[in-house]
Amino acid sequence: MPFCGGDRLLEAYRLAQRDGYAFMANNVAESNIFLGLIAAYTEARSDLLVQISPGAAKFAGGGDKQAGLRALSRMIQEIANAFPICVFINLDHFTVNERDLIEDAIEHQLVSSIMIDASKEPFDDNVRICREVADRAAGTGILIEAELGKIKGVEDEISSDDALYTNPEEAVEFVQRTNADLLAISVGTQHGVSKGRTLDLRVDLAGKIRERLLDSGLKTPLVLHGSSGLLPEQVREMIENGICKLNKDTQYQYVYGRAACEFYRDHADAMIPPANVEDDILNLFAASDWSPDKSQFDPRVVGRSVQSRIGDIATQLIQQAGSGGKTLVSEKECAS
Ligand SMILES: [Zn+2]
Repeated sequence: MPFCGGDRLLEAYRLAQRDGYAFMANNVAESNIFLGLIAAYTEARSDLLVQISPGAAKFAGGGDKQAGLRALSRMIQEIANAFPICVFINLDHFTVNERDLIEDAIEHQLVSSIMIDASKEPFDDNVRICREVADRAAGTGILIEAELGKIKGVEDEISSDDALYTNPEEAVEFVQRTNADLLAISVGTQHGVSKGRTLDLRVDLAGKIRERLLDSGLKTPLVLHGSSGLLPEQVREMIENGICKLNKDTQYQYVYGRAACEFYRDHADAMIPPANVEDDILNLFAASDWSPDKSQFDPRVVGRSVQSRIGDIATQLIQQAGSGGKTLVSEKECAS
């Protein structure tokens, strides 16, 4: 199934709201995490939502955010073609500084949805900035996510020292004035490494925000940032209170690092010469009897290990979110 746009993503969120499940939104900055995710999501028959942050675009483009964004989006779209699930792409934490990139993403249909983050700004400025992007995206099928409140911690190029919980009354006014399709709320999660058990999580507040929105005729799916340290029961409670999208970045970064670390630790002798051998990287040990083992140092070998470990964690996170077996792609479409 090819990459799918915002129309189908909205359909996926509506079904999730109706049936009480959610989507993990998985950050991607290179191919190994993506390949691990798409294998696990296909196996679980779940649609896959991946996210690209400005920092990931910058990394992938060797410093050029636009090149990186295009390259990541096209890689994801090309690979998605061969898999029998819908693959959606969201831009994560794009700000006014990335207006050119947002324009490029809309014009070339690089993504399914865009988060415009002006949550650091005063309320009226936040509204104005988000509304401008929502107006630009109107009619293109691309969904807009906006944030109200502040999430503590550091993620990518965004940081905040304090948490500022979202006010339910303001949330209604914010969605009405911005025309945002999705609302990211602050209810006590943290960006970066956090421990779910120590967070002052306000599940009730998420429920209240959803209630106020529904009272005003708004079925806006709610988004939870900083979900990497949440316990399974906290994820469940959040979904029961209206969260449709849970952002996961830090978790995959750790799994990647851990998988690579263990692989290289276990195969160090295949790559690092013994003490009595001269360390001759330039000539690849041509003058020595000792040789490094290509069957281990080929980066694709550690890459496969990373992909498989990402897949294992993704499978468990799909279970937490409840999105397994719910793909919009029918068996018939797969067969054809
Ligand atoms: Zn975030």
